[in-house]
Amino acid sequence: MLGTGILKGMVETAKNFAGSYHDPERLTTVEYPEQRIASKENARQFPFLVHDTEDPMKGLRCVACQICEKECPPQCIYIVKSKDKRADYKGQMQFYPATFDIDLSVCMSCQICVEVCPFESIKMDTEFELSNTDRFGGLLVNKHQLAKSNEHYRKIHPTEAAASDAALAVEVAKAQAKAKADVEAKAKAAAEAKTKAEAAAAAGPVGAPASAPAPKPSSPAAAPAA
Ligand code: SF4
Ligand code: SF4
Repeated sequence: MLGTGILKGMVETAKNFAGSYHDPERLTTVEYPEQRIASKENARQFPFLVHDTEDPMKGLRCVACQICEKECPPQCIYIVKSKDKRADYKGQMQFYPATFDIDLSVCMSCQICVEVCPFESIKMDTEFELSNTDRFGGLLVNKHQLAKSNEHYRKIHPTEAAASDAALAVEVAKAQAKAKADVEAKAKAAAEAKTKAEAAAAAGPVGAPASAPAPKPSSPAAAPAA
């Protein structure tokens, strides 16, 4: 019958309209801020710096390579590299950020800093309640404010964090295998040097004849006549 499709569509719309008033599953809005919708796993707001130890500053993964600072389109990252080095999660000596600031009032949440970081150090947070009355300083955050634990990362982006943990575990395994190979190579070289030294000692001083030459027998023809 002509118009059946329109009628069916209107019935569906009416059901949704009425349902959205009493069925919580169909509600698309909530009474914020008293009610909150849980953040989606892929949601992203602004970056944070991941740390692995209880002391956020000692456990920052960032090695101050400054790649993110160079690649950030609006140039809102400011990094000063440390003068000294400290051991990273693989035990390798690395620089760390003496200063790491992000001006969140300029950040456009593009995630490029995350994509270019080779050290799994910077990730996107889901925190969005950052309203501030200080227009210029209130959103300029430093490394102390940016540092958040890997546990936090696992909580807000579990899939991504699992991949990140796996990538770091591979790096740690590679570093441990290399360290083991280095120790074995050093031990082998030392053993070879010891064997050579022992062989040289057994052969006597360098340039010395192996044994004294036998004395030549005196010729009877050459002997003086009696
Ligand atoms: S998310 Fe984009 S704009 Fe924000 S700090 Fe990272 S690179 Fe810069
Ligand atoms: S966050 Fe990553 S890319 Fe940026 S300075 Fe630190 S290690 Fe380098």
